[in-house]
Amino acid sequence: MGEQLQSEHLELETLAIRGGKLQTGFNEHSEAMFLTSSFVFDNAAQAAARFSGAEDGYVYARFSNPTVAMLQDRLAALDGAEACYCTATGMSAILAVVMGMLKAGDHVVTSRGLFGTTRQLFANVLPRFGIETTFVSQTDTTAWEAAIRPNTRLFFIETPSNPLTEIADVPALTAMARQRGILSAVDNSFCTPILQRPILQGADLVVYSATKFLEGQGRVLGGAVTGSKVLLEEVYKFLRIGGPSLSAFNAWVILKGIETLSLRMKAHSENALKVAQWLEHHPRIGRVFYPGLVSHPQHELAQRLQAAGGAVVAFEVLDEHGQSGGREEAWRVVDACRLISVTANLGDVKSTITHPSTTTHGRVSAEDRLQAGITEGILRVSVGLENVADIMADLERGLSRN
Ligand SMILES: *Cc1c(COP(=O)(O)O)cnc(C)c1O
Repeated sequence: MGEQLQSEHLELETLAIRGGKLQTGFNEHSEAMFLTSSFVFDNAAQAAARFSGAEDGYVYARFSNPTVAMLQDRLAALDGAEACYCTATGMSAILAVVMGMLKAGDHVVTSRGLFGTTRQLFANVLPRFGIETTFVSQTDTTAWEAAIRPNTRLFFIETPSNPLTEIADVPALTAMARQRGILSAVDNSFCTPILQRPILQGADLVVYSATKFLEGQGRVLGGAVTGSKVLLEEVYKFLRIGGPSLSAFNAWVILKGIETLSLRMKAHSENALKVAQWLEHHPRIGRVFYPGLVSHPQHELAQRLQAAGGAVVAFEVLDEHGQSGGREEAWRVVDACRLISVTANLGDVKSTITHPSTTTHGRVSAEDRLQAGITEGILRVSVGLENVADIMADLERGLSRN
């Protein structure tokens, strides 16, 4: 049914609710949760045929499960992709791309502004397996080009970047990669398919931390990779063996979360824009980083690539002299929050606040952090769906103490 719906060219709002549905003989209306680790065969011959792949069908939940398959079909439809595989977490989705696509001796180009753990994967783990990475400025397309080597195999793009919301020129970078026979993958966790569809902008693969906006209410972890059938076959070979499978329960929670994705992304973006505009005029705030602001250096590019700015706003707290503040000023704002949750997660209906330099990016070296522009006075808020006046009042509490 997922495929049938895709071919009807339904709109995103409809696909988020109706895409990817398998129905049992009980005719349930809501998608069923299949809590089973294995599937029975009619006889020995069928077991053999299922294992060899001669016959389609479920075998074992590390390979696939009907609830997970529904989520995969729904995400593929939303992304305009041929196929999707889900994973236990966003990091295992990224790992699956790396393990499926790269080998020792390969080289990767990516941006300095990556999610901290992704950066650690490329900087600290992959070199042990003979895969080198060059980190460049997210926004300098010529720097990506200059970093290409004969053995470059992958452009890994995360846009907007976390936490400073730098926008990568996805159409330009993916076209450059394709021309040179290099694969491109985009981490679309911040935008989701509702705000940005990288496959339609030229990306070969898209990865998600479904933990964030796709799920939307901070309940379970999950991840996904979408792309062409041919490429995803390689990703799947690793998933079957490596085993970072998504549980049926988590898949079901995410599947239900996606049904409200379109409404949520629009509401997150509206609230975030109001918070960003308010912060921009606040005497205790320096720079504000939000793609929806006209003052954002790549506002026009963001408008071209994204349907709206998304939920994440970063900003620099000033000290009492109006100079860039440090850890003390930033922590004062965090500690004064009574409503906004002090937590590392984002993409929740609840607003969250994070001090990146001592948490999510704390393991990145001080030098790399500064090069990425993440100073100690920077805070990141994932603007939730509470009333925006309450969110601003909560931030004001700490700002007026500085
Ligand atoms: C959270 C996040 C990840 C990692 O996802 P997990 O589900 O926590 O493993 C990867 N990329 C981005 C942009 C993220 O925000």
